[in-house]
Amino acid sequence: MRLSALLAASLLLLAISVEALAASEVRGVRLWRAPDNTRLVFDLSGPVQHNLFILSSPDRIVVDIQGASLATAFDQLNLANTPITSVRSAQRSAQELRLVLDLSAAVTPKSFTLAPNQQYGNRLVIDLFDADEASTAVASQPAIPVKQSVIQVEPPVPVLPSLPASGRRDVVIAIDAGHGGEDPGALGPKGAREKHVVLAIAKELQRQLNAEKGFRAELVRTGDYFIPLRRRTEIARKKGADLFVSIHADAAPRASAFGASVYALSDRGATSETARWLANSENQSDLIGGTGNVSLDDKDPMLAGVLLDLSMTASMSSSLNVGQKVLSNMGRVTPLHKKRVEQAGFMVLKSPDIPSILVETGFISNPNESGKLATKSHQQALARSITGGIRQFFQQNPPPGTYLASQRESGKTPQGPREHVVSSGESLSMIAVRYRISLASLRSANSLRSDTVKVGQVLNIPATTLAATP
Ligand SMILES: [Zn+2]
Repeated sequence: MRLSALLAASLLLLAISVEALAASEVRGVRLWRAPDNTRLVFDLSGPVQHNLFILSSPDRIVVDIQGASLATAFDQLNLANTPITSVRSAQRSAQELRLVLDLSAAVTPKSFTLAPNQQYGNRLVIDLFDADEASTAVASQPAIPVKQSVIQVEPPVPVLPSLPASGRRDVVIAIDAGHGGEDPGALGPKGAREKHVVLAIAKELQRQLNAEKGFRAELVRTGDYFIPLRRRTEIARKKGADLFVSIHADAAPRASAFGASVYALSDRGATSETARWLANSENQSDLIGGTGNVSLDDKDPMLAGVLLDLSMTASMSSSLNVGQKVLSNMGRVTPLHKKRVEQAGFMVLKSPDIPSILVETGFISNPNESGKLATKSHQQALARSITGGIRQFFQQNPPPGTYLASQRESGKTPQGPREHVVSSGESLSMIAVRYRISLASLRSANSLRSDTVKVGQVLNIPATTLAATP
């Protein structure tokens, strides 16, 4: 009697724990193909634990998910251009679901789970990284008998920027279409998605910039897939970018909010923001790819992340300068949200190298603007205005060794005064020293009565007599 009561109680406990374990359902699957990896995202009704292991001949990946049952089918999944040939499943027990990914080639997998966020519930993410072509090439080289004990290792051949016929390099613009893949970015009232709109604008911007002599534009994201934020600036750096332009579209709780804006980074208040960001990233498991997509309270999480990234690399004065030119050109084709380049309070964490701006092309949450942003003609107009701002900036400030620099040296570009946008911590005398001009000439070129300058103020830099001599 007593024993059977105990048994009944423990059976009940067992039943509860089984139920708790098997409570999660795999309700859907999404797949994204990037140039060098494939991402599978399983949407779950609750948290799960999982184990992943690799089997070879034939290559396949097995994922055992504890506490899950299958409530979806995989036959609708488009596996074209991926190394996955099929996805199979088996319910091994009430508590364990096994998924098998059959592969056409070996891959390096990485898997992790994500807690719910505003857009999605619990997720299991499986990233399959393609075999590194470089290492494959090295591995497949025939073995050469080594006669000497000292092996000379040749340094890797650097990737050289393409040189136009004049022998002067192009100015390289890295265009980063925000978001992508399972991160749709902001959503419009009629279902427009930021990730699609900004990719279309980015591609149009690339086309227009490539049509400009002396410029070469490179897309950071070429399709609908996610790239961790830090990886985006890495890609820009690898491409030898002279400027990093991140393209976004805003969303606001107020549907009436409208207008374009341009962001550069402030070098003030950064430490606390970084600390906050780090604390957030520790406290939230809402990380994708082990980096970005961390919620920063009320800010666009991607935007906050990108801004932090920009803060690592931004050349402040150049960013403000090019940002202001882009903004004033955009003001001719679309209303502006703010007339000045906005600065978020993130601190520059290391020496700036690539000037970086973030362009919010408009509010996708505004029904009127959302409609415009989706049209080809408005995308072209926006791209034209951004191109105009970038062209003006680099004609006035061509990087040494570029075609544009040679044009400026030979007087073929409109000389015009150079401009400097004051960034935080700069004084008038510092700016005079930097441009090797006298404080007096700087004062008079700008009709200044005092030496007080404000952050964001645009100063004309007069040509020096030195620069005038051949
Ligand atoms: Zn965005």
